Amino acid sequence: MMTIQILPDDVISQIAAGEVVERPASVVKELIENALDAGATHLHIEVVAGGQKRIRISDDGAGILSDEVILALTRHATSKLRSATDLQHLRTLGFRGEALSSIAAVSHTMLITRHRDESVGTQIRIEGGHIVNEKPIGAPAGTVLTIENLFYNTPARLKFLKSETTEKRNINAIVMNYAMAYPTVRFVLVHDGREIFRSGGSGQLADVVVKVLGLDYFKEMIEVEGEERIRETGDSITVTGFVSQPSLHRKDRTRIILFVNGRVVQDSGLTYAVTQAYHNLLDKGRNPYAVLMISVPTDFVDVNVHPTKAEVRFQNTNVVFSAVQRAVRQGVIGFSQSERHSHYAAHEVSTTGSAWALPYDRNRQMDMEMPLDELAHAGTIHTGDDIQDIPEGIGRPEKPRTLPLLRVVGQIGAAYIVAEGPAGLYLIDQHAAHTRVLYQELTELLGQQEQMPQRQIESQTIDVTTNEAKILEKHLEILEKLGFVLEAFGVSTFLIRGIPAILKTGDITQHVWSLLEILAEKSSSPLQDRLLIHIAAQAAVKAGQLLNEDDMKSLVRKLERCPDPLSSPNGQATLIHMSADQLQRQFMRGNN
Ligand code: ADP
Ligand code: MG
Repeated sequence: MMTIQILPDDVISQIAAGEVVERPASVVKELIENALDAGATHLHIEVVAGGQKRIRISDDGAGILSDEVILALTRHATSKLRSATDLQHLRTLGFRGEALSSIAAVSHTMLITRHRDESVGTQIRIEGGHIVNEKPIGAPAGTVLTIENLFYNTPARLKFLKSETTEKRNINAIVMNYAMAYPTVRFVLVHDGREIFRSGGSGQLADVVVKVLGLDYFKEMIEVEGEERIRETGDSITVTGFVSQPSLHRKDRTRIILFVNGRVVQDSGLTYAVTQAYHNLLDKGRNPYAVLMISVPTDFVDVNVHPTKAEVRFQNTNVVFSAVQRAVRQGVIGFSQSERHSHYAAHEVSTTGSAWALPYDRNRQMDMEMPLDELAHAGTIHTGDDIQDIPEGIGRPEKPRTLPLLRVVGQIGAAYIVAEGPAGLYLIDQHAAHTRVLYQELTELLGQQEQMPQRQIESQTIDVTTNEAKILEKHLEILEKLGFVLEAFGVSTFLIRGIPAILKTGDITQHVWSLLEILAEKSSSPLQDRLLIHIAAQAAVKAGQLLNEDDMKSLVRKLERCPDPLSSPNGQATLIHMSADQLQRQFMRGNN
């Protein structure tokens, strides 16, 4: 038994840190909030190794007065709150004075700041909560916080960190959410030296939403606007933002993003209000996309109910519920009615008009077309690369041809496509060709995003040998990158939670057995490549599948611009070419 003693300060700080900063993403969140509270108009966020190595946030906000720097790093020191009654009128994101001290207690922190009213700034280094160095320094007005080696002194926390990919994804979501909540502020997010998101600070929510969802999805969004009076006070609650047309939906509710007074909130009641508004317009089990800004009087909401402030409490939940439901309902109904008049009604809501009001053919995706663009948006990660060129218009430039233009004649044996080109006859193996095309597309996709889109599935368990368990364990990261989400569950059991979105559900455990085979292979070609080839081959059409003309044309069009169109990635021939000469010789033979 130990005697009772008051804990030393640094232990208290470490415990407190556990509540506020449970992971790199929470550090990013707290520092963004501080920068926004300081009135920043430009935030630059750099992350290395999912935030574990380094997180650096630079802002052009007010900065910290030199004689308050130490105070800012002290627990329960805040400039945003003076008394408990202030809690009822909060206009700032922070108020507890816990974040900086907590973060500094569990990392190597460097703070460089200059208050805009002072001519000299301050640089201060803190390791595990202890100041190791402080000095005046020349710096632009604003603040730069660099957090390195997070949790280096709390091994237990370190052990429970999620994978780098998961953490990146969380950070992306946080940055994008704040970018949407603060459309006047410019956000730049860089992971490992690569810029993956940027918002322009135009002040238009639509401009940010288009960056977050991608243009194709944005075109299927409806703008909503609603207001509800609080009877007792006469104040109003407003709801503005975007929700998806009934044609755009997904399985989970993760893309229903709700903000209350500029703060992202998780509130199953309000989320339900959104889905309710679609009533019978969505199939069971399907959920819309939504980005909604709910604005309520500050004294109507209590934000001080959750350590990370993710939940809030309203004085009267019903009014907020009905405000949300009505605003969304009105938007959706209004859209459905106007759609009867104009097929492109949705584009008229586009707030910035012109460039985005291009007609959009919702049937453009044929069965066989790998909806890669959609897949790219379906995952939780959305990298900036493919949306950065939005102003230039839709679609990427066509890739160079690698085969001549082919005319599809038909299909034979439910396995081969017959085509004609300027140089004779082509017989195309549909499976090999489709595997080649998909492999190419997946490789390109992985070049642009750090993770393949996943399909979440009802978890299934699979029992493996201890040896196989070791093999799987060793490769969980790369498997997750490719879309397979496996989780150890006991000694030799795994939970399968997700598969690459491109794969059909079918026999899920079979996927894992095949993966095991590939992982155990001795081969000189890179593992990721071998896995990608496997995924492509699994997803490709099989021999024996009847294809309609559009399917065949679409496949052939893609093959024509595929590098290495002549063989599948596992070396099988994709096509047999007979030149007109060869054909003629064949037929002439008998005549000689
Ligand atoms: P809180 O945000 O709850 O006040 P923090 O520990 O996050 O607590 O920050 C403590 C104080 O440090 C803040 O109240 C603010 O005065 C100051 N501060 C923190 N970050 C910044 C920043 N980026 N720019 C200006 N001041 C800051
Ligand atoms: Mg704060």
